[in-house]
Amino acid sequence: MKIPYIIKLFLERGVFPKVKSELEKLIELQKTDTNIRKLKKAIDGAEQRRAGIEQEFELHASSIREIQGRRDKAQTERANLENQIAETKTYIERAARNLKNSQNQKEYETAMRETDALQKQTGTFETQALEKMTEIEEVEKVLEERSEEINSLEANKTAAFADFDAELKKNRKQFDNETKKRHEVFVTLPAQLASVYNRLAQRSRDGIAVAEVVNGSCSACFMKLRPQVRLELKTMDKIMTCESCTRILYIAAPAADAQAVSQEI
Ligand SMILES: [Zn+2]
Repeated sequence: MKIPYIIKLFLERGVFPKVKSELEKLIELQKTDTNIRKLKKAIDGAEQRRAGIEQEFELHASSIREIQGRRDKAQTERANLENQIAETKTYIERAARNLKNSQNQKEYETAMRETDALQKQTGTFETQALEKMTEIEEVEKVLEERSEEINSLEANKTAAFADFDAELKKNRKQFDNETKKRHEVFVTLPAQLASVYNRLAQRSRDGIAVAEVVNGSCSACFMKLRPQVRLELKTMDKIMTCESCTRILYIAAPAADAQAVSQEI
């Protein structure tokens, strides 16, 4: 049976699979690091997001409290008016007695004037009480319309924070796992490659040291690769870097493509 050249090469020198596996490690390391960055960002921003949720609910709650406050105020004012009406009515009764018991024209006129003034006052109070009544009804209607929101606000808030806490816990756990995984991969890299990786990752703001080639371009700096570079990349027999941004390049090769490459060789 004829041994394919690629396997022969591996058996003789172990060149191709060794380098390929280093590149694969770099790709894995990059994916892990990118994930770690994403998780760290989510964890670091958690307090701010939590405050945002709190603020959103507080906004709802304060808008409801404001309406409830208006209703309570109107109710208190209406109760005061009712007390004043009752009080004025006792004065009217007293004025009526005075009128009945008046001994002379002067007493009679005084009692009459008093009665008139008190009745007028009662009328004013009653109108105001009616206005308050209407105001209360309107506010009650608004509260009724928002009753579902009001009743579920606390439960929704609790649920939102429970979701938030669960997600944060998940992120922290993933962060720990990924950090562990990163270390495990990193220590298997040759020292020089590991230091190149670290230098590239630290230099770049997005932490990308290993960039995928997408549509013939470096996906980190978008520079179009020369055909020769693309061809060499496909063979995956050495670590290649972008001529523009110096990041390590790779072509994500599906299983079928990988096979095609080895057949070409
Ligand atoms: Zn580049």
